[in-house]
Amino acid sequence: MNQLIRCKNCDAIFMKTPFDQSPEYERDPDRLPENFRSMERDDLQDFLIHHRGHRLENLKIIEDSFVSEKPYSEPTKTSFFKATNGKEKFVIKKFREKIDEPLKYEVISGDFSLKFTAIEIQWEEISKQLKREIKPPLSQTQMDAFLKLYRHLFKNIDIHDLERVPEDSPHPLEIYYKISDVHLMYLLRNCRNIFKGREYLAIEEFIHRHKDDGVLLLKATYQIQLTEVAKTKKKAVPASLPLKKEKIIGKK
Ligand SMILES: [Zn+2]
Repeated sequence: MNQLIRCKNCDAIFMKTPFDQSPEYERDPDRLPENFRSMERDDLQDFLIHHRGHRLENLKIIEDSFVSEKPYSEPTKTSFFKATNGKEKFVIKKFREKIDEPLKYEVISGDFSLKFTAIEIQWEEISKQLKREIKPPLSQTQMDAFLKLYRHLFKNIDIHDLERVPEDSPHPLEIYYKISDVHLMYLLRNCRNIFKGREYLAIEEFIHRHKDDGVLLLKATYQIQLTEVAKTKKKAVPASLPLKKEKIIGKK
């Protein structure tokens, strides 16, 4: 089990994982690339020695509070999550600058929330799939007309009118939604102006095939909004981080 420890004196964080006490293999730059030397390490011991005599406390990670600006599979990303000691809530930044570095944890003063930025249709994926599935192929004019109609449908959509797709997205800031029955009816009705006869039937089938889990899903993107509270001790977030920041000083 992962365990989060905070030093109350230094505001330092340590994440105890099952890997702390395993030896680490490091490439020796003076030797051939095949040669690795093993380093015995005990990070927890280092942390305890460093913070000897300080007041330590256990923190509990708040479930589902993880956010990150990069895909889950990206190893060198910055993420944020929340944890609590039962009384206070802490916002913790988890990051790694290089792939071979250990993860670092830092308490930041302030808070974060997710802000909805845009909803878009999956342009390229729809075009590709139309070309692949509809035979004989549609003309470019028909394809463009369909994409234009589909985009028009969601131009001024309220995200709350859409149903979120339960499957996990590979990116933490991208969430997929499916179109509502009302939009579906509107879409089919308008498709009758673009397609006739067998072509209409083909596009109708296409829409039914892809509306729930395919290319017709709408992609909503979010942004991490950090609200940084001024702290005299140290700066909370490095300037290089491409996140939108909002400074709130002395807000009640
Ligand atoms: Zn300490």
